[in-house]
Amino acid sequence: MRAAVLRGVNEKFEIREDVTIRGPGPGEVRVRLGASGVCHTDLSIHQGLIGSPAMFPCVLGHEGAGTVTELGLGVSRVAEGDHVIVAWVAPCGSCRTCLAGQTHLCLSSRARRTAPRPPQMQLESEGIRALKGGFAEEMVIQETAAVKIPADIPFDIAALVGCGVTTGFGAAINTAAVTPGSWVVVIGCGGVGLNVIQGSRVAGASCILAVDPTPAKQELARSFGATHAVHPDDLDEARIQLTDGIGFDYAFEAVGRPATVRAAYDATRVGGATIVVGAGSPTAEVVFNGEELFDTERKILGCHYGSANVHRDFPLILELWRAGRVELEGLVSRRIGLEDLDDAFEALDRGEVVRSMVLY
Ligand SMILES: [Zn+2]
Ligand SMILES: [Zn+2]
Repeated sequence: MRAAVLRGVNEKFEIREDVTIRGPGPGEVRVRLGASGVCHTDLSIHQGLIGSPAMFPCVLGHEGAGTVTELGLGVSRVAEGDHVIVAWVAPCGSCRTCLAGQTHLCLSSRARRTAPRPPQMQLESEGIRALKGGFAEEMVIQETAAVKIPADIPFDIAALVGCGVTTGFGAAINTAAVTPGSWVVVIGCGGVGLNVIQGSRVAGASCILAVDPTPAKQELARSFGATHAVHPDDLDEARIQLTDGIGFDYAFEAVGRPATVRAAYDATRVGGATIVVGAGSPTAEVVFNGEELFDTERKILGCHYGSANVHRDFPLILELWRAGRVELEGLVSRRIGLEDLDDAFEALDRGEVVRSMVLY
């Protein structure tokens, strides 16, 4: 099959026609991809900000949708020919976190992610790791990571829901559980931030302040439901004006840097909540003092995959899209082929695109 192989940090993608993938084992399915988005996490791996040298050579891409073409032993949730969105967490449904309703933190899925496993893909005699492998024509995934969707939904729309949309929308709806009339600020208006904005809009927030240095992103943020948009330098002035100096009920950080986490916290009111949605680095520390944590009761909430139950939330988001309540088309900046991935990664790094979508 065709695949974009990455051999190391900041290398160009090697587009090959002769990569093979093993068949599905028990509980697994093979998916022929229809579309696969370029997410910021792929860029962070490409730049070496996440991961280790041991993961190369690999195939990136974790925001895909496609058709189930082969079933492993014992698969019952999906059938051949079903259209599915690929989730990057495969909830087992029976571990302690799944039973607690936190399927996005499934302990079995986390253990599988870190366990040493033989590479799924092969190029001549060389093993290639699938991380998750969306930049290849086919993936082999756990059946619980394949979320069935109606066959009439275009793959490029469906794929978006596999990561960025669910992460942002879920941060507002699930992690924060934004309530009607809330005052919300969102720092960072990329693929995730825009979906925090529209999640907050759907939840009924009365004030949604978008914060981003790029005028084009500020404009986009308004079209996704932001009531106001400012440059980061003007955040404090906007906080004073929009909240009468009280501070926001919810501050979402969708960048992943200490300074923006701290800025989000400082923008909240006493008793408000900061939701850290951006994927940060393990070496970047954020400083809080003990007095402010105790005295102001501001909450700091981690947010993984929008705290989503993928089997509940993927169909829910698509229903809202069909009802005209959620915007998805406007997130796709470019439709590309695998051979355009180098350009797509550079454009994402420069902040010029929200989503480049590989079509197969
Ligand atoms: Zn992603
Ligand atoms: Zn589980």
